[in-house]
Amino acid sequence: MPDCRKILSLFLLSSLIPVLPLYAQSPVDPASGYNLIFICLDTLRPDHLGCYGYGRNTSPRIDAISGQGVLFKNAFAQSNFTLASHASLFTSKYAHSHNADRIERRLADEEITIAEVLKANGYKTAAFIHNAQQFDPKFGLNQGFETYDFAVEANRRPSIEKTLPACLKWITRHKNERFFVFLHANDIHEPYHCPDEDYFDEGYHGRLDQEYMATWPPGFHTRNLKRTKQEARHIIAHYDAGIRYTDSYVGKFFDHLKGAGLLNKTILVFFSDHGEILGERKKFFGHGLSLHDEEVRAALLFCLPQAKQQTVEEQAQLVDIMPTVLELLRIDTKGLGLEGKSLVKTFLPGSAIDEEINEYVYAGCLSGESEDNGLTDTQAMIRSRSWKLITHTWGFPADHKNIKSVQMHNGAIITAPFRNRIELYDLRKDPREINNLAGRGYADIENMLLSKLLELF
Ligand SMILES: [Zn+2]
Repeated sequence: MPDCRKILSLFLLSSLIPVLPLYAQSPVDPASGYNLIFICLDTLRPDHLGCYGYGRNTSPRIDAISGQGVLFKNAFAQSNFTLASHASLFTSKYAHSHNADRIERRLADEEITIAEVLKANGYKTAAFIHNAQQFDPKFGLNQGFETYDFAVEANRRPSIEKTLPACLKWITRHKNERFFVFLHANDIHEPYHCPDEDYFDEGYHGRLDQEYMATWPPGFHTRNLKRTKQEARHIIAHYDAGIRYTDSYVGKFFDHLKGAGLLNKTILVFFSDHGEILGERKKFFGHGLSLHDEEVRAALLFCLPQAKQQTVEEQAQLVDIMPTVLELLRIDTKGLGLEGKSLVKTFLPGSAIDEEINEYVYAGCLSGESEDNGLTDTQAMIRSRSWKLITHTWGFPADHKNIKSVQMHNGAIITAPFRNRIELYDLRKDPREINNLAGRGYADIENMLLSKLLELF
């Protein structure tokens, strides 16, 4: 059934383009009429990129591109898995607002996505996704894309070597029109299996070789609770090889855009949708479990001709991308209910920043769910540059008293009792979030962060 409110909003948006004088006195240099390209490097931890300080040479091409762009050192995803995070990115709404906060939940048709806004403003829109199941159109992330090139193969590999040629072909065909392209790469995601998988640990021979090849697609995700340090290092080498492999395709994409003369009229946004646990805490490998930094820190890089190369230390969120690019493109956002904030002032010349844009960032997830028993751990996070607070609220089925343990999607097992609880970390002293200070003498900070978090709901 068509949603009248949504149709009306999109109609009003498309008729708002002529209101350009509103922007005439803006200190920012607009990019009206530019193309827009989003490049998602799924499951990429920013601290595994050279431009974020990683020691291993995983990302020579991205590092070089970051030398021409605006790199956000402290960016955060709004959830810890693909569907919820992209739903936030595409709508500029937090997970509890758009409600696509678990795998089975479709992003509602009433939600207005950036692709729909751009389409209503005359852009050609296209998305290219290979072997990433949460982009199945049944989950609603396809809203607004006229071309939606989505496929899943039996072995769920590879990704960007399939998406990139189709994407380049489409861009060549539409290069003289205004376009919005979403390019997705899933090769960094588990099972850490890409054509260059042994790149960083060629000399390894051990039991992981057998284990890895015993499943198809090969992977380390089974029995992932029993790893020696050497094995953990080998698994991380595989993860890093996925980054190196993806990086080479990002480079090819960038070269093509440059060769086609598109870089001077295109806004490029590189980002990751969430991070990955790589042996932290109890040696898990995966995501979708917690809201610690290893899972919610995201890479974020903008490239556009008007912005000089720079690094921004301020906190940023993926929900900020939509308001940022719509401001740059001079598209009015009134009535869209965007929950993110424009980051334009942090990087365009002549922009004065009077206060921090994101004193606090937020994330949420629904974790711990088992399809068999329906136990849920709803988590919410608030983070300043100094402190982080995470709440856990358990939901129970009627017969929960008989449930002794729940297995998470990544294999972790949590045992009863399933208590509501709070985590509090002093990020300046404890950036790895090891020492939980909740209930240990920081009541003022705890209460302040809790009340700030509640303001969001
Ligand atoms: Zn993802």
